[in-house]
Amino acid sequence: MRYTQTVFVLQPFSETATDILSALLADIGFESFVVTENSLEAYIPTALFSEKNIDEIIVHFPLDEKISYSFTEIEEKNWNEEWEKHYFQPIVIADKCIIQSSFHHQEGEYQYRIFIDPKMAFGTGHHQTTGLILRDILDMDLNNKSVLDMGTGTAVLAILASMRGANPVLAVDIDEWAYNNARENIERNNISNIRTVLGGAEALGGESFDVIFANINRNILLQDIPVYEKALNTGGTLIVSGFYKRDIPAVREKCESCGLVYTGFREQDDWVSVTCKK
Ligand code: SAH
Repeated sequence: MRYTQTVFVLQPFSETATDILSALLADIGFESFVVTENSLEAYIPTALFSEKNIDEIIVHFPLDEKISYSFTEIEEKNWNEEWEKHYFQPIVIADKCIIQSSFHHQEGEYQYRIFIDPKMAFGTGHHQTTGLILRDILDMDLNNKSVLDMGTGTAVLAILASMRGANPVLAVDIDEWAYNNARENIERNNISNIRTVLGGAEALGGESFDVIFANINRNILLQDIPVYEKALNTGGTLIVSGFYKRDIPAVREKCESCGLVYTGFREQDDWVSVTCKK
């Protein structure tokens, strides 16, 4: 698949504005976002790229921003190199876990070291929502628990869960690029108990799990939480993320309407992960 990199310059530049712009761009097919010092870089499969859609977002943008953009198609083969050069620095979660590209030198001593070469898949630990669930995973007892990682992206959550003793682990993603990247990263970390499946909620068979992670987005979660609930064992835990604090009531209500018990949330920069029990 070919991707188009689009660089947005916002004036004035603020985190709120880049958050809103990213959310609107995600609605028209943009898949990954990198915030630099004064711009937002966003990536979309070239087949979905439309200047008309972007212009519409800019015209109706809810804040008083001046937004301009430029775009270039990127070569698939250069992606790793580009990523390494510009985007993905090693990240340490809760002093216990480091996530790094296989290109980086192995610095420091950590209990868990995860190698991720994300290419176009989402999930390096840098996004708040990934970090929130990684922290949840570090705090949980996952020993011999069966785990489902829905919307696995790079498989980073599935990999840490496996390193924390979860067994077996199923990693599912609807996007072929992410699915392939998940497989590569699982192999790169020498993990043998994570199965991967390409698909969405419909791909879940009769299997059930002790723990389910789903870091996707508000709308997909609201649609698929009933399916996740069915796939959760009694006594099990569902952790969902990919939305803002203001979305908690809607997500909570959906969970409770399926009979799940809301137990709380973790937050960072307005992003949250919500935990429910069955
Ligand atoms: N789990 C990773 C990646 C989250 S990004 C992390 O926490 O960082 C969300 C992922 O969900 C993307 O890879 C996207 O392809 C996938 N996705 C989107 N819609 C989905 C759906 N309906 N079912 C399963 N995966 C989906």
